[in-house]
Amino acid sequence: MPQPSRTALLIAAHPDDGEFGAAGHCSQLADEGWDVYFLVCTNGAKGTEDRAMHRERLIALRREEQREACRRLGVKDVFFLDHEDSELVYDRALLEQIVRYIRMLRPETVLTHDPADIIILDSFINHPDHRAAGTAVLDAVYPTARDHLNFPEHLAEGLEPHKVRELLLWNSNSPNFDVDISDRVDQKINALAAHVTQFGDQQDFATFARERWKSEDGRYLERFRRIQLQF
Ligand SMILES: [Zn+2]
Repeated sequence: MPQPSRTALLIAAHPDDGEFGAAGHCSQLADEGWDVYFLVCTNGAKGTEDRAMHRERLIALRREEQREACRRLGVKDVFFLDHEDSELVYDRALLEQIVRYIRMLRPETVLTHDPADIIILDSFINHPDHRAAGTAVLDAVYPTARDHLNFPEHLAEGLEPHKVRELLLWNSNSPNFDVDISDRVDQKINALAAHVTQFGDQQDFATFARERWKSEDGRYLERFRRIQLQF
């Protein structure tokens, strides 16, 4: 029996955020026959401590690293909105862009940053780009993409309203849904390792990453806040 076609869309602020948040789950979905897409909101122009690195070169490298990470995960395609890194703002233009991709790709599941809190698990600050992206995605899913009266110009392009059924938010203070990625942790680390400009010492990074996603019982988990949209 062929499986019905399923589509997931991961929307991240920066190159590598999607791999940190959900690479294991995305790899599982792709293997199960889902069409998985990534949408990256910024150009990644700020993620380096290398002062000799030229801006245009960094943007090009990070884009190629994101493409390579997606190849390693079986992601079908990746799109870039190219907003300036660390300057992402939630406005009508960003909302329209995200609604456009939701209406175009018609995902059942959308994965993104949890924008609800500035402080996460009392251990790090939720980057302002993450909060802007996550907020825009939630508003795009509900209500904007569902109602033809929002951005009605989309109709003329054949982009019909769309209802997303499931939201999975990573880096949440309120996770309610664990995905066991024990058989995927190597793929996750391999995808993260594609971001060469971000993780200089690959061995140190792999050790860190293994600890980061290991739960107390020895399994590897990606933890999400899951919202199932009932209507
Ligand atoms: Zn980020």
